[in-house]
This record gives sequence, C-alpha cells and structure tokens, in this order.
Amino acid sequence: MKIGFIGLGIMGKPMARNLMKAGHELYVYDILPAPVAELAAEGATAVASPAEAAAQGDMVITMVPNGPQVKDAVMGPNGVLEGAKPGQLIVDMSSIAPTAAQEVYAACQAKGVRFLDAPVSGGEPGAINAKLSIMVGGDKADFDEAYDVLMVMGASAVYCGKSGAGNTTKLANQIIVALNIAAVSEAFMLAVKAGVDPQTVFEAIRGGMAGSHVMEAKLPMMMDANFKPGFKIDLHIKDLNNAIEAAHAVGAPLPLTVQVQEMMENLHFSGQGQCDHSGIALFYEKLAGETIHQEK
Ligand code: NAD
Repeated sequence: MKIGFIGLGIMGKPMARNLMKAGHELYVYDILPAPVAELAAEGATAVASPAEAAAQGDMVITMVPNGPQVKDAVMGPNGVLEGAKPGQLIVDMSSIAPTAAQEVYAACQAKGVRFLDAPVSGGEPGAINAKLSIMVGGDKADFDEAYDVLMVMGASAVYCGKSGAGNTTKLANQIIVALNIAAVSEAFMLAVKAGVDPQTVFEAIRGGMAGSHVMEAKLPMMMDANFKPGFKIDLHIKDLNNAIEAAHAVGAPLPLTVQVQEMMENLHFSGQGQCDHSGIALFYEKLAGETIHQEK
C-alpha cells in the first residue's frame, strides 16, 4: 500500500521503517529536513508537504508531538485535508487530547475523509521492534480496515470506542507510567540513603508484586545515570496536562497525577525537559542530595 507518513522523530522514524520493511511504499514528510533525507536514502519518497503525502498515499499516518501539530499537519495550510481524496483514511498515532482528536475527526468528516486516533505505548524500543501497543478510537469499520497496517508496527491494536477513546486510553496509560516511575525513584532513593545496593534491591523485588515493565525499562537508566530520551519529560508533561484537562471535564479526581506533574514541571524549569522521563529520579536526587547511580 502507498502510505503518507508525517512526523519522523524518535517514534515515527522506526515505525516508518517497519512499514517499508513490510513492503509498503512510503511518502514521508517532517518539518525538519534531516529525518526526511535519512528515510529517503533508505527507499522512501520525500514529499514537500502533508498535502502531498495525502495526495500520493492511499492512507496517511501522523506521528507528531501534540494536538496543535496534528491540527497543523491535517487542517493547516498545505495540510493533509488539502491533498486528501474523498473517503481516504487518516490515522493519527500521536498522543493528543481526546477533544483535539474529536475536533480533527469532525474536520475530516466535513470533507468526507475518515480519521482514527491511534496512539501507542511501548516507547522507542517498541517502535523499533514493532511491538507497540496501539489503542484506537473512531469508527469500528475504519479500525478494521487499518488493522493489518497497524499490526505491522505493533504487537496489539485494540479498538477502544468512538473518536477520542484511543487517546483517553493513552492518558490512562501515561498516568500509570508516570506514577510508576515516581514510585521507583522514591523507593530506590530510600534504598540508597539507607545504604542498600540498588542493584541488589532490584534483583530481590523484580519478580514480585512490585515488578513492572516500567521498573525493568527505567531503573537501569537511573542506575547508569543515563537520561538520554526515549520519551522526553516535556512530552510527558504534555500528556499529564491533557490528562488533567480531560479529568476536569468529566469530574475524575487525579490527586497523584498532579503531584508527579509538578515534579516534571520543576525538572522542565531546571533545564531537564529534554531528558528521558526516567529523569523523574533527578527530582528526588535534588531533594535528597544523593544519586541512585552508585560508583562501583
Ligand atoms: P519527537 O519530538 O522525537 O518527534 C516528533 C517529530 O514531529 C519531529 O521530527 C518533529 O520535527 C515533527 N513535527 C513537529 N511538528 C510537525 C508538523 N507540524 N508537521 C510535521 N512534522 C512535525 O517525538 P516522539 O518521541 O517521536 O513522539 C511523537 C508522539 O508519540 C508524541 O505524541 C509522543 O507523546 C508519542 N509517544 C512517544 C513515545 C516515546 O517513547 N518517544 C512513546 C509513545 C508515544
């Protein structure tokens, strides 16, 4: 299939590569020239705008930071809707506010174009290894049509409900991940301050109830003092802001989310917003005057 792919960052680039490996023809666009040139060298066709990506592709996928960028790429000047054909399917895989997804869905519907929100979990390794968990909102028939293409990039694709439901699911995911990273940071700072080796604590508890994907992926980064993203703190702040806004709209209480969001805001204003979200540990390290990383 011919696929227009817009947004070639940490996630979009490996996702586009997996689609090419599966035999799809890719028409790629990003506001930055470097990743476009990189994928073009690997066999994709570079296009000059989202409109051209839509005109060339049967389906269009977007993978950009947040709602404003999705609106810009889809509804803006030279956007997807300027090049889209009637009935074309657009799949936004960015993590955005459910209300923003519904706005884009409505704008697409008004032009006779179909739109799914299909955010992902699994991080950069999941994108590289095609093991993403994909959560989808929109019309069920469109999900069924997109399923095979989604499964090229993911280990699962689950239909969550009407437009916006994919992103509501993703917000729930992001709350659990953020709170889990904070819990791991808090617990391992206790171990370090009390003089117990963090690697030993990890070995002792990883197979028990406290074990988690988050601890497996993020604790080694804290112990190595390696906060190269991965998933940037600034993007996680964006997700928690979207979660808080969505929760206020429906009356759901998020007292713990707000606390972790404040930790990440503090890191952002300390110049650490581009660190991986495992860098929540840096907030604890500042408070405790100690690092989880231990010299051997
Ligand atoms: P990134 O910042 O690495 O990449 C975003 C890309 O979009 C960049 O290349 C940027 O130049 C491009 N872009 C920005 N505005 C654009 C526009 N208007 N038109 C075209 N391209 C534009 O971010 P990422 O880590 O790849 O994340 C992308 C999305 O996936 C975000 O919504 C993020 O929350 C979500 N996500 C990320 C991870 C992760 O671990 N990195 C995991 C799951 C979900």
